[in-house]
Amino acid sequence: MTFKALLDESVKIHGHLCPGQVLGVKMSMLGLKSIGIDDPKGKDKKSIIVFVEMDRCATDAVQSVTGCSLGHRTMKFMDYGKMAATFVNLKTGKAVRVIAKEDSRQKAKKYFPEIENKYEAQLEAYKIMPDEDLFDVMEVHVKIKPEDMPGRPLRKVKCDTCGEYVQDAREVYRDGKALCRPCASTGYYAPAGKDIL
Ligand SMILES: [Zn+2]
Ligand SMILES: [Zn+2]
Repeated sequence: MTFKALLDESVKIHGHLCPGQVLGVKMSMLGLKSIGIDDPKGKDKKSIIVFVEMDRCATDAVQSVTGCSLGHRTMKFMDYGKMAATFVNLKTGKAVRVIAKEDSRQKAKKYFPEIENKYEAQLEAYKIMPDEDLFDVMEVHVKIKPEDMPGRPLRKVKCDTCGEYVQDAREVYRDGKALCRPCASTGYYAPAGKDIL
């Protein structure tokens, strides 16, 4: 598929056209090419896992282009707050981390000086800027644990404190007890009426 077709599709899924869609689509195309994947939603479907380091607009574009998603366990969200994603070819082990360059915003300004709206200018510039101006590519090694792979859960354990079940080896062992993560430390929630520390 062409850049234009992939961008149209990701805009449809994301709900609007934004610089993040352009960056996310280009980032994914570059990442997939670098690991030798040309049909991520077809014949290569089972050969790819993506780690995204941001939960921003571009993340939706990465999902749309690669077909990888949290629900399929083929997209892993690493909460780093960075505009970067790593594309892993499970068949060959090849992995590249694609990082959006911070200075691409400055460079974008030069492309369409006649467009007054900064956001518009950035959007249009990102569409035509060469990959070298937008991204750094880093070859990396990624170890994916068996419990993080797609497929059936390897095990399910009952939390000794709250009684809820924990899949995929996410339990924590303490003093011989199996605990879910919120019971082992602080969770993002507390039962209504209790304070969250
Ligand atoms: Zn957006
Ligand atoms: Zn628990």
